[in-house]
Amino acid sequence: MALSGSDTFQPNLSELDFALSMWDLPELMRASGHSDDLADAIITEAARLAADVLFPAALSGDKIGAYLDGDRVVLPASYIEAYRVYCEAGWHGISLPTEYGGQGLPLLLSTAVTELFNTANIGLTMGLMPAAAAVALLHHYGTVEQKSVYIPKILTGAWTVTMAMTEPQAGTDLGAIKTRAFSNNSFTKLKGEKSLITFGDHEMTENIIHLVLARSPNGTDGTKGLSLYIAAKYLPDGTRNDIACVAIEKKIGLRGSPTATLIFGSVEGAKAELLGNENRGLEQMFLLMNRARLNVAVFGLASAEGARQAASKYVVSRIQGRDKNNNPVAIINYPDVRRMIASMTARTEACRYIAYYTASLIDRSNLPGQNRGEILARLDIMTPIAKAWCTEIGFDVASMGLQVHGGVGYIDDTDASRYFREARVHTIYEGTTGVHANDLIFRKLIRDEGVAISTFYEEMRRTGEQARAVRDTDIVFTGNALLEAIERCEATTKLILANRNSGSARLQANGAHFLMMLGTCIAAWTTTQAALIASQNNRWPAQMVRKKVRQARFFMQQVVPPAMAMSDAVVNGADAVLAVIEDFQNANSPH
Ligand SMILES: Cc1cc2nc3c(=O)[nH]c(=O)nc-3n(C[C@H](O)[C@H](O)[C@H](O)COP(=O)(O)OP(=O)(O)OC[C@H]3O[C@@H](n4cnc5c(N)ncnc54)[C@H](O)[C@@H]3O)c2cc1C
Repeated sequence: MALSGSDTFQPNLSELDFALSMWDLPELMRASGHSDDLADAIITEAARLAADVLFPAALSGDKIGAYLDGDRVVLPASYIEAYRVYCEAGWHGISLPTEYGGQGLPLLLSTAVTELFNTANIGLTMGLMPAAAAVALLHHYGTVEQKSVYIPKILTGAWTVTMAMTEPQAGTDLGAIKTRAFSNNSFTKLKGEKSLITFGDHEMTENIIHLVLARSPNGTDGTKGLSLYIAAKYLPDGTRNDIACVAIEKKIGLRGSPTATLIFGSVEGAKAELLGNENRGLEQMFLLMNRARLNVAVFGLASAEGARQAASKYVVSRIQGRDKNNNPVAIINYPDVRRMIASMTARTEACRYIAYYTASLIDRSNLPGQNRGEILARLDIMTPIAKAWCTEIGFDVASMGLQVHGGVGYIDDTDASRYFREARVHTIYEGTTGVHANDLIFRKLIRDEGVAISTFYEEMRRTGEQARAVRDTDIVFTGNALLEAIERCEATTKLILANRNSGSARLQANGAHFLMMLGTCIAAWTTTQAALIASQNNRWPAQMVRKKVRQARFFMQQVVPPAMAMSDAVVNGADAVLAVIEDFQNANSPH
């Protein structure tokens, strides 16, 4: 496919195609009543939009940024035009069920589309992310009237949506939310401050719908007293609701995305309506958390892919030094640079396998004739892994991309710098890495006493055995290394389970290391599968087969060992972590 677009962004279609087929997109397309050809057409169109429209807008968006001018929020003009084109093509609803007004396509396919869009321009796409979630929420909990008023406007893109949860004192701990609903002249109104709200204000669309988590009029303290409210920027009579944008943050990245501080009800209260059930707001939001976390995993993947592309172009064009015949050489000739490119590539592809696998589990959980309980248990494990592992690796890959660029990478204008700056935040929103580590250990491992993870280890082990039986030394090496990693992770898991009563602080102290260990083991499993699938299926060209097999060996030699080495810290390192607090308190106590 010939795409114009930028010479620094080229949709990586062969890799997308490989990863989609790895998790059986054709089967999922058939199960949802669609043909394979449709998937190709959708990916082709998405790639075109990403390269020709979204990516060029990202560059100017980063330079100009969003800003507050009086009480108006000004977005980069390139964003407004790119959004118009995006909406005209009807991309909002591709994975939403048809009864919601969507196209009912597999989430796996829409994850690939999202990867393309995010790689091209996360600053813009992060503002579009809540739309599908809002439609699903309205569908589940909205009244007939709410559905008819909001869903068509959201699906056409005429109105954007925000998720307004965070407050200055309530970030990870949403139980500390102070924004409160009250009744006034038969209206429900809101008063309170919301901070760091993505696309919280702008004039790109005719209206903005805020999904606000706030304390119900009689709500108790903590998360149980929270309800979900809909508050629109403009009321049905066209007047402005009592919602003021008082700041647009100056950020290190994603500068085109307006991150707003919003005051609800600085005058008389912002008019709002309840969505769903009173005091069940957080629970309702959780309905969508798996999707939202997968979306952020794809942000991590996209930052890695963008950084990988930028670095891969740079290493062949940057001339530095001379070879032994005194000819100038491109930096790709230096083995250390090759190692970095190989590492960026292998880890980016592993992020893709993990994100797509997680999406395919969500699709499978909705198919008839599947073991839904087992799929959901696997999804429970994969959700924190996908969110935290892909975003941590995404940042690390983007950082390596900057290293590959040398001093030029540190200059604000380069793509390498932009991907690095943008990647930094993905580990923070939608649950920090530490929070996902706690979720993994306490809710996903300990709660079912390790049953779901044992089944997973067994499945991974079968792949390792299969690889060990292949007549190819690289694949055999890969299989053996995978089996060793599984053994290490399984032993560590058993010790965590055995120590479950040793105090939650001890288990939390190195939880993030355990998450990265397990994530790396799962990534090694997917990478081994990629090598097996490529080499055992004559669909793939020889070059792809060679690449997948070599990459699997590289991943096992370079990425897996440092991650597995953390098992000692996970098993024995809690005391050292917890002791630090004493020194910290002594150093900070008044003399
Ligand atoms: C660019 C950007 C866009 C955003 N968009 C939105 C948006 O659209 N809507 C919205 O509602 N919010 C949004 N946020 C806010 C984001 O969700 C919060 O920043 C995030 O939830 C973390 O909260 P916090 O910043 O208060 O950090 P804190 O909760 O104060 O955390 C600080 C540190 O303490 C750790 N920590 C805190 N509590 C625990 C715990 N229980 N266990 C272990 N570790 C813990 C964290 O892991 C972290 O390392 C956005 C933020 C940014 C930067």
